[in-house]
Amino acid sequence: MALLRSYVSGEWHTAAEEGVPLHDAVTGEEAARISSAGIDFAAALEYGRRVGGPALRELTFHQRAALLKALASHLREHREELYALSARTGATLGDSKFDIDGGFGTLFAYSSKGKREMPNDTVYVDGNVEQLSRGGTFVAQHICTPLRGVAIQINAFNFPVWGPLEKLAPAFLAGVPSLIKPASQTAYLTSRLVELIIESGILPEGTVQFVAGSVGDLLDHVTAQDLVSFTGSASTARKLRAHPAIVRNAVRFTAEADSLNCSILGPDAKPGTTEFDLYVKQLVTEMTVKAGQKCTAIRRAFVPAELLDDVAAAASARLAKTTVGNPTSDGVRMGALASLEQREEVRRSLKALRDAGSVVFGDPERVEVVDADAERGAFLSPVLLKADPDRSEPHEVEAFGPVSTLLPYTSVEQVVELAARGGGSLAGSIVSADKEFVREVVLGAAPYHGRLLVLDADDAKESTGHGSPMPQLVHGGPGRAGGGEEMGGVRGVLHHMQRTAVQGSPAALTAVTGRWVAGAPREEGLHPFRKSLAELKIGDSVVTAPRQVTLADIDHFAEFTGDTFYAHTNPEAAAANPLFGGIVAHGYLILSFAAGLFVSPEPGPVLANYGLENLRFLTPVKAGDELTVTLTAKQITPRIDQDYGEVRWDADVTNSAGESVAKYDLLTLVSKEQS
Ligand code: NDP
Repeated sequence: MALLRSYVSGEWHTAAEEGVPLHDAVTGEEAARISSAGIDFAAALEYGRRVGGPALRELTFHQRAALLKALASHLREHREELYALSARTGATLGDSKFDIDGGFGTLFAYSSKGKREMPNDTVYVDGNVEQLSRGGTFVAQHICTPLRGVAIQINAFNFPVWGPLEKLAPAFLAGVPSLIKPASQTAYLTSRLVELIIESGILPEGTVQFVAGSVGDLLDHVTAQDLVSFTGSASTARKLRAHPAIVRNAVRFTAEADSLNCSILGPDAKPGTTEFDLYVKQLVTEMTVKAGQKCTAIRRAFVPAELLDDVAAAASARLAKTTVGNPTSDGVRMGALASLEQREEVRRSLKALRDAGSVVFGDPERVEVVDADAERGAFLSPVLLKADPDRSEPHEVEAFGPVSTLLPYTSVEQVVELAARGGGSLAGSIVSADKEFVREVVLGAAPYHGRLLVLDADDAKESTGHGSPMPQLVHGGPGRAGGGEEMGGVRGVLHHMQRTAVQGSPAALTAVTGRWVAGAPREEGLHPFRKSLAELKIGDSVVTAPRQVTLADIDHFAEFTGDTFYAHTNPEAAAANPLFGGIVAHGYLILSFAAGLFVSPEPGPVLANYGLENLRFLTPVKAGDELTVTLTAKQITPRIDQDYGEVRWDADVTNSAGESVAKYDLLTLVSKEQS
């Protein structure tokens, strides 16, 4: 098979040498060759910064989100081709779906997050305006803007599709171009993925570059505006983290590395309970999906000492039903490891683990396989061990294959301590219906984990399981797991951006953020509800005529709505209320009157009121008080796929003394054009 090409500086690059062979994990045949010889890495980074970055920064978050969605839809049409290549890495169809469809799912999830949780703008406003002075003329706002460099993404061999897409999505949404470097062993699959991306022309030129083979002197050229995200072994992570250019320039470096993930069975989960069965099933699934080559797979299975034999017997019975072999053959449940080298590595780790205990199921040296040669292909039996939990090996040696170790415990305190001996993990499971046990273990284990799954009969049916990182949630873990936080929804996007505290006057901050800040000039004229999205400007506002609130209004509202809370209806009881000292108007009456005051009732561009946010009632309103509303257009967000958009209004309801009685953001949908 051919030499894999790289895509750098706007061109496909083929090395002028033979390259190193990569082997089919199932047959041992050569699958491709790889070499990055001749690539000018400094130029590639410069190209990303000069061409990809500006192209992305011209787009709003919503436009970037739409491109991610279009890309995911396009790639989905080619999944059969990717499944076929994935089988050569040893993956069954189920494994491939995990990797390939999981990757597309991540693109879709980020697209949706970008559209819903980020503005249709190029600047992200982070948090609330901070008032820094008494008079309100000096305020501050945190904003996030994309770094001006390249996101260098170094991936592991086990997820050739999900790995790069999981890193590309947040970088792209942030406005930072990517340079993808896959692990060599399975790079032929990532290479095809990238060809599909580039050939589609969906993403702007320069936003995706791809290096097949070693990265040469790439890291020598990183600047403070570049980022490096790494997934792989802890030893490589350590080496890269200490690279002189990374250290010198304080480059943002995140790593996701080896992790001794645990699953903890609660003492309540005796044989015959749903939780016992869930625990065993999940353990076997985690051992066999992707032949255990998952950074989140369960390596340490903690069980109450008195249940160890039961769990060992139940898990062994399930494992015995796992057919190993050619991943494309019918009935095969577990394929091969990614390479023969990987199998040797796992066998080496198994030796260390066996020193600390004994094998419960499987033979590390021999396995029966279907439709394949067990030696030429990188096949390995699932191996379940049991060991003394006081030994160090089970907490330190990660056998990156279908391997897990049963470890007995005798108390909650002990299992929390043992879980922490992993030195920081990506994922942990607690399988128990005992909520007290769950709380103690979760709070004890959380500082050492990126993600914890509590599995029980209630959530089992819909649970996504121990091993599935979700794009909405933080993926990463402390300590040994690398200290990174990849994904995590908008958090993952913001990782690629610089957060800056901007201090100034309300008018200056309004200009910078594109959001009206209280204290900035307002424009009164035509009622803003008469303006289409195209005509409306930030700061357009209406100040209503006053309306008096009477006791009859309060009585009527109480009667009409059924809200007869004593503070609105019982003068003596209300007088005794330390906050009110008498009858007060309902908060919802104030809101209703406010709507009646600011409304412009005739048909027009305002289509709907879809909610309000940040509501606070600030001053009690008594009979006789007069209310006025100032409504100001605060943020305008046209939807790119609709002929309307969202307008966020600042609503300030004041009394005749000028005090705010209620403040909130009103949310409306407004047509882009007058009809
Ligand atoms: P490595 O750390 O060797 O490689 C990971 C990535 O880093 C690959 O893309 C590799 O490229 C690249 N790389 C290696 N050395 C350098 C370098 N000096 N400069 C720049 N890039 C470099 O891990 P493996 O993929 O080989 O896996 C080994 C072990 O890592 C596994 O056995 C397992 O224990 C652990 N692992 C952990 C994962 C996790 O997510 N937590 C996932 C996968 C593995 P190349 O392939 O071209 O060398």
